Amino acid sequence: MKKHNFYAGPSVLPEYTKQKVAEAALDFAGTGLSVMEVSHRGKEFVAVMDEAIALVKELLNVPEGYSVLFLQGGASLQFLMVPYNLMKAKAAYLNTGAWASKAMKEAQFFGEVVEVASSKDKNFNYIPKSYEVPADVDYLHITTNNTIFGTELKSDPDVPVRLVADMSSDIFSRPIDVAKYDLIYAGAQKNLGPSGATLVIVKDDVLGKTGRQIPTMLDYQIHIKNESMFNTPSTVAVFACLQTLKWLKENGGVAEMEKVNIAKADLLYGELDRNKLFVPTVPAAEDRSRMNVTFVMAPGYEALEKEFLDLATAKGMVGLKGHRSVGGFRASTYNALPLESVQALVDAMKEFEAIH
Ligand code: PMP
Repeated sequence: MKKHNFYAGPSVLPEYTKQKVAEAALDFAGTGLSVMEVSHRGKEFVAVMDEAIALVKELLNVPEGYSVLFLQGGASLQFLMVPYNLMKAKAAYLNTGAWASKAMKEAQFFGEVVEVASSKDKNFNYIPKSYEVPADVDYLHITTNNTIFGTELKSDPDVPVRLVADMSSDIFSRPIDVAKYDLIYAGAQKNLGPSGATLVIVKDDVLGKTGRQIPTMLDYQIHIKNESMFNTPSTVAVFACLQTLKWLKENGGVAEMEKVNIAKADLLYGELDRNKLFVPTVPAAEDRSRMNVTFVMAPGYEALEKEFLDLATAKGMVGLKGHRSVGGFRASTYNALPLESVQALVDAMKEFEAIH
């Protein structure tokens, strides 16, 4: 049976990526060796890293003066590396969910953390709009897409201070103006590849300014100098990311992804707004994520939750259960999820409504 993969991450990847990884698992670049068993210093893997970095720059139109890194430790290690490298004394955070809260917790090891606004009062079902950023902070940190709560900031904000963004779950889903950011990071395991690689895009001249001694592995400047090869990179994950980047380029890049992502989101939210059995958890259309569509059973129909999950499962849909802190459902609709999978989900909702 065809599977419809709605997992939040690790999550659906392009067939192209899976095929190329499967081939390279046995014979990588004509070496007669698996991509798992070659040196990262060999010319074949160095070419993979170089091309992956070049494609990130090309696809996101990264300006001069920025470095692109493939690191490890997930986005969670970036919660720590960002303040270690950028925070002198004080940083501002927009608290839009569990991941933002975790980022704030790590920053507290390095100085004063100012929560400029929080949507916790409504279980993070909106993006706060009016807040002031103190002029004396070292940066403002935002989470562009809140994977658990299904909200997304779909434009690049103008702020008077340095801007840092966790884009783990929406990078490459739309064009972004990298010049507005001083640092962007993302765990690979949503729109890019398997877990194990973490993408960082950093403006070179923001680094080395804290006066703090930074342990080697946590120092962005070390990784820049060593072209993401200070230590052994996550070779297979980076190889897989490169395949997705090639697929992205082949399929029209981030502008084309945005069009398809809008079409998928419109289809799904349209049905959620129409169907009497379901309600989206994010009320304001402008805050609704195009990557993680969260919804619950409508009031009075709560008891049907398991029955709908069973129906969807029987139709090959996986990963629809909502995060435990929100409940209900979450359909993750990353770049590689085809429109037909969203259509299948919408059809299942219609069918379920007809039964009840
Ligand atoms: N930030 C966001 C927005 C996420 O969705 C996640 C994980 N799903 C993380 C951070 C943490 O990422 P990791 O597991 O790679 O540390």
